[in-house]
Amino acid sequence: MGKAYYCTHCKAQLNVGNDIIFTVKNNKKNAGLLLVSPQVGDYSVKKDTLFEIEKGEHLEIICPVCHQNLHEGKVHENLAKVIMKDESGHESELYFSEIFGERCTYKITDKKLEKYGDDSMNYNFWGSEFDY
Ligand SMILES: [Zn+2]
Repeated sequence: MGKAYYCTHCKAQLNVGNDIIFTVKNNKKNAGLLLVSPQVGDYSVKKDTLFEIEKGEHLEIICPVCHQNLHEGKVHENLAKVIMKDESGHESELYFSEIFGERCTYKITDKKLEKYGDDSMNYNFWGSEFDY
């Protein structure tokens, strides 16, 4: 089986089938569901057309199980975080942008950083702490 994704707060698993499920709030504070590909570096998302999100909106990304915000403001005001476990149970931290349409993901495993996405140069939060 593939990778699994977990809430940093309640540790609930967030992926079902071929999607990771997030509750999100848009700029108008309307809440809805967003389905995100579990493939790191694949930025296809699914949402209902009636739930309007503009490209560039700063979303609140919320765990659908415990309703806590996945925001990781210590690192950057635009980034959220989930835990990823691979097939062998090895954990990574996955940081991704809360800006709708921005393509960047940072995977940190044992202080080793991997960057994904066309916009991954937008954030430079890791300094010299990580090897990459
Ligand atoms: Zn949770």
